[in-house]
Amino acid sequence: MLNRTRVFSAALCCCSLAPAAAWCGAPFSFDSAPGRLPKNVVPVSYDVAIVPDADALRFAGTESVRLQFRAATATVQFNSLNQTLSHVLLDGKPVKSVTSSDEQQLTTVTLTKPATGLHTLSFSYSGKIEAQPLGLFAQKYTKPDGGRAVLLSTQFEATEARRMFPCWDEPAFRAYFRLTVTVPKSWATVGNMPIAQRTVHGESATVSFQRSPKMPSYLVEFTGGDLREVSAMRGNTHFGIWAVAGHEQDGAVALASAEDILADYNDYFAYPYPLPKLDSIAVPGGFSGAMENWGAITYNDRILLVGPSSTMQNRQTIFSIQAHEMAHQWFGDLVTMGWWDDTWLNESFASWLAAKETAARNPQWRWWEQEDESRESAMAADARATSHAIEQHVTNELEALNSFDSDITYSKGEALLRMLEAYIGEDVFRQGIRSYVKNRAYSNAAAADLWNALRQASGKNIPAVAAPWIERPGFPLVSVTAACDSSGNRSVTLSQKRFLLDGGGANGAQWQVPLRIRTGTSAPRTVLLDTQEQKSAAGRCDEALSVNADAIGYYRVQYDADTLAVNTRLFPGAVDGDRIALLDDQWALVGSGEASLQNFLALASSMGEDRDARAWQQIVRALAIIEYAERGSPGHQAFAAYARALIKPVADALGWDAAPQETPNVGVLRDTLLRDLSRWDDQATIDEARRRFAVFVQDPHQMSADAQASLLAIVGQNADAATFAQLHRLAKDAKDDTFMQRCYVALARVRDPELAGQVVQIALSDELPPQANTLGLRLILTLAREHPRLSWDTYIAHQDQLMKSVSSDGRSIVIAEQTPGAYWDALPLDQLEAWARANIPKGASDNLARGMETAHHLAAQKLALVKATDAYLASAKHAAR
Ligand SMILES: [Zn+2]
Repeated sequence: MLNRTRVFSAALCCCSLAPAAAWCGAPFSFDSAPGRLPKNVVPVSYDVAIVPDADALRFAGTESVRLQFRAATATVQFNSLNQTLSHVLLDGKPVKSVTSSDEQQLTTVTLTKPATGLHTLSFSYSGKIEAQPLGLFAQKYTKPDGGRAVLLSTQFEATEARRMFPCWDEPAFRAYFRLTVTVPKSWATVGNMPIAQRTVHGESATVSFQRSPKMPSYLVEFTGGDLREVSAMRGNTHFGIWAVAGHEQDGAVALASAEDILADYNDYFAYPYPLPKLDSIAVPGGFSGAMENWGAITYNDRILLVGPSSTMQNRQTIFSIQAHEMAHQWFGDLVTMGWWDDTWLNESFASWLAAKETAARNPQWRWWEQEDESRESAMAADARATSHAIEQHVTNELEALNSFDSDITYSKGEALLRMLEAYIGEDVFRQGIRSYVKNRAYSNAAAADLWNALRQASGKNIPAVAAPWIERPGFPLVSVTAACDSSGNRSVTLSQKRFLLDGGGANGAQWQVPLRIRTGTSAPRTVLLDTQEQKSAAGRCDEALSVNADAIGYYRVQYDADTLAVNTRLFPGAVDGDRIALLDDQWALVGSGEASLQNFLALASSMGEDRDARAWQQIVRALAIIEYAERGSPGHQAFAAYARALIKPVADALGWDAAPQETPNVGVLRDTLLRDLSRWDDQATIDEARRRFAVFVQDPHQMSADAQASLLAIVGQNADAATFAQLHRLAKDAKDDTFMQRCYVALARVRDPELAGQVVQIALSDELPPQANTLGLRLILTLAREHPRLSWDTYIAHQDQLMKSVSSDGRSIVIAEQTPGAYWDALPLDQLEAWARANIPKGASDNLARGMETAHHLAAQKLALVKATDAYLASAKHAAR
């Protein structure tokens, strides 16, 4: 699953704190896998038939489950929600009693006498079609011809399959599924497997899909509606990209990518994709991410379809998300985590392999440099004293949604796997993965299964190195103190402590850290830092030194003053990845109060006209944070002038128009610089944007999507009433959802306070089409950048409307953990916390602690940055005299 909502767990735990717990450190075993359902009766195969009524939001169903009674019992318990069961029979004979509890999400069937061996439980039931992406849901949308329509689709992970059919809805209960649906005969239908039989009767068609492989219930999928596909056959696999009729041709790029990615993965795993087909379905709206249902991956259509309005960044997102969901066909579908403690076995792996595949297939994208941004986001979240471990105990599957934390479960996990791969080598790592997948195929796994496979492949004690990284929150700050001998040879003393947002982590070895040390531009060598303090040779004292070569490690590094001075002097000629690591670390150390702002700005100033996109992105992100902090203070103008002067030469050299043969990262850099120049009041940039917008409005087709995206953002920010109206008209008339959303978001960047009021009206109006069900919230959050208080007031007054596509569990997590970081400067923090506390359940208090730690840090950082910046600019002015 990808970013359904940014969520995480309330349970903070790790095996080092509770080593005796059954779920800690042991390979997967079905009997000891956690869960609520008893394991004495297990499903072998399901036959589920449903007849949905999309208009009434109801459906009728029948179900027959082949059960294995592993021990004699008269009680059968499974999950159900919002269903009424009738005609409940065991082997065709009535049972003694049936009780269902929606609160517990359980049904208990009591038999007339205990049973053993194989039996068949059958029943009829009725259920609810949801209007949100939970279980079987109805999605309304605007058709390409402007008319309205509805389709049905499913979203089951983590625990929503039980909304469509009663089942053993925990990941360890794998079974075969055979699904039958009766829908209007004009509809196309997609399931996990190819269609086995289709019978038309009157206006309806009854469609049966082939039996699925043995899999968990959360991977079952069904979509039906006025859909079309583009398709291809490659090797033994049929590929289909499905979209609502009229948009299917926008699936052509994704179709070609899917074929390439699957070929690469078949090779990587040495375990060919086992299903006869792989469909990808573009659902208009629904949910904001994608879901890896086996053989039938669902996507929000904007992250699968490539149309004329798609920018290079859109294409990159689409490829990388396809690579993520397709990686799940092995990590997640073929081999599933035994329980939600180990959600990372699915998500960290899919994120890591997707990045690797995206980088390999698109070398010109310099993808690992772009992934540095998500690593930084993870480290910012993980540097909180209140952070949680990757592996965390989920006591009850109803908390499972909490284990999908995009920073920790996805991005930190991805970074750790990359670090581990670099430590033991790509080939050895792949060998370990291959044996893990082969041994656990069609079954489940725990972390220990993976560590053992990697230990066997590498001959190294991987459990000892790897386990603390997933069982403990946080990461180390490695301190480097150099000494030079009389011939200029350098040796370094290395030590570690936990890195915290506000500094002050305790000294001492908590992790085994696989360092990659490079001197100058030579090949890096690996040193495992596994003691309190360690010495190592480190080239010559006049060479640059990186202790995190290529920015692969998930740790920060602090160099002593002399080494930092050498690194700063040699910064322009250093290896790109080493520069990225140094910029990341120096900025983080400014935030924690462990380095001076001056040192960071010295690195930024030494970039000159270098065009490394990632390095500049890091610099302008930092400058943007400072500029925002300075707003309203006397030093603002001087800082904005300083920031403009730093980036203007690079922006001028790049110009507004892409050069022929330009690589994508240069386009990304241009976009970043132009937006920031506008934000920092560069009048020439604003004027040129207005001139280009006038031309664009006359003939929108003359401009590339990439040029258009930067332009609209700048124009929106500086819009007067007439320009705002023009942009608004473009949004309303848009035929393409990607372009439509881009125009609306540009409106929400507006600085003018009166026009900002209009953005609020638009975000709450029904002019936004039904498939754009997350757009209203996005507009209000975008508005916060220029109008924090207006955005906040709207956000709290219209929670229900703005978060209509977020489940209630997801909503409390958004409120507790993400809202404080978004609105830290909109109102006093004690008021913010009081509001959040009143709007979340008690169980989310750890999440709120994390959110508030971020908010307090940002508020303190603002004060510190203003002070440091003003002092720096004053001294620079003094020096200039
Ligand atoms: Zn995923």
